[in-house]
Amino acid sequence: AAITNHMPTAELQALDAAHHMHPFTANAELGEKGVRVITRAKGAYLTDSEGEEIFDAMSGLWCVNIGYGRQELADVAARQMRELPFYNTFFQTTHVPAIALADKLAELAPGDLNHVFFASGGSDANDTNIRMVRTYWAMKGQPDRKVIISRKNAYHGSTVASGSLGGMTAMHEQGGMPIPDIHHINQPNWWAEGGDTAPEDFGLARARELEEAILELGADRVAAFIGEPVQGAGGVIVPPETYWPEIQRICAKYDILLIADEVICGFGRTGNWFGSETMGIRPHIMTVAKGLSSGYAPIGASIVCDEVAEVISSGEFNHGYTYSGHPVAAAVALENLRILQEENILGHVRDVAAPYLAEAWATLVDHPLVGEAAICGMMASIALTPDKARRAKFASEPGTVGYLCREMCFANNLIMRHVGDRMIISPPLILDTGDIDEMMARIRKSLDETY
Ligand code: PLP
Repeated sequence: AAITNHMPTAELQALDAAHHMHPFTANAELGEKGVRVITRAKGAYLTDSEGEEIFDAMSGLWCVNIGYGRQELADVAARQMRELPFYNTFFQTTHVPAIALADKLAELAPGDLNHVFFASGGSDANDTNIRMVRTYWAMKGQPDRKVIISRKNAYHGSTVASGSLGGMTAMHEQGGMPIPDIHHINQPNWWAEGGDTAPEDFGLARARELEEAILELGADRVAAFIGEPVQGAGGVIVPPETYWPEIQRICAKYDILLIADEVICGFGRTGNWFGSETMGIRPHIMTVAKGLSSGYAPIGASIVCDEVAEVISSGEFNHGYTYSGHPVAAAVALENLRILQEENILGHVRDVAAPYLAEAWATLVDHPLVGEAAICGMMASIALTPDKARRAKFASEPGTVGYLCREMCFANNLIMRHVGDRMIISPPLILDTGDIDEMMARIRKSLDETY
């Protein structure tokens, strides 16, 4: 019999447990606890197979920026599928959706980021970046410039290469990561690691670790530095204001390429088109995905500056994905960008949603469990602590406080994510003040029940 939304939840759960391996999940535990089966979504709300409405404060996985259920995207996808469901962009062929999306991204991206190499998501776009920066230097006669400097607790994807670029120790412990010539420096996480240092001094000190690493490795061996403007999956770590200008200065001084991973920060999340603009970063390459299509279709890209693109284009770059510039995904992304632009969703974030959320978010530090309340645009986190004055940490294993808090959120029909001792949100950008009140009420209730 066909498996449909109308089957009893228990049957769907049993079939899921029998055959579906979930990412980043202890799959054996799922069988006992049962997964929640999501059947529909509209705006910021999911509906599950029991008919429960759930507030999705994570926009899926940080991606549904325009909210769920926009008919225009479904229509565009259907039209494109009928007209040209697939063609590749490899061997002297192209198509209109890829041309139009590349053109649009070049228009939206700051500075001379005028060239687009498409991927299927963020991980493989970062794989592109690794190969592109190394190839760039090799083509310029400096093949020893291979090392890419990244940060501990960064997240850049889950392929072997992008996972190596990331700084997640739990990932590095499995399956042969990191690959060679990736170097990790410390993150600018003042709450967890700043000790008695003032945040501005800490930001500078952490940025200067880049210079120390360059000097230790030898500048002639370093190809690039990569960072998320605001670390997302690491726990929404908003860096001190001193951090990025110093990173920028050091990259310029040693002629190191700067890659901004905008997979989460891009497309309005921080109130500008790109987190680089919010943080004052001028990257040579930006990685984008997620909000590019608001998650309605899988697509990612590297947006590349004139100089790097010129060098790469002077030879053959032996790299590409079957779905690079997939016409349906590109058409959907283009329509998503049209909605973001024509409905002035970034203006809504800047003028209404983000300031209102910031005010509400700041009040969370009154809660006995909450130490820091960090926010940048429409991404925010709280650090849970047993002792605010000492900025003490709870452990992060299952059964401890962050995990418990996430379970409370789940029970209160709120999706909020837990990363170690931090609880994070990244809601759709279209929330109005009433939606934010509702979300905050559920967060408060969940915190109270955790305490
Ligand atoms: N880069 C960042 C900053 C991300 O947050 C993610 C995913 O969360 C990725 C890369 C990987 O993207 P994807 O899961 O689309 O491969």
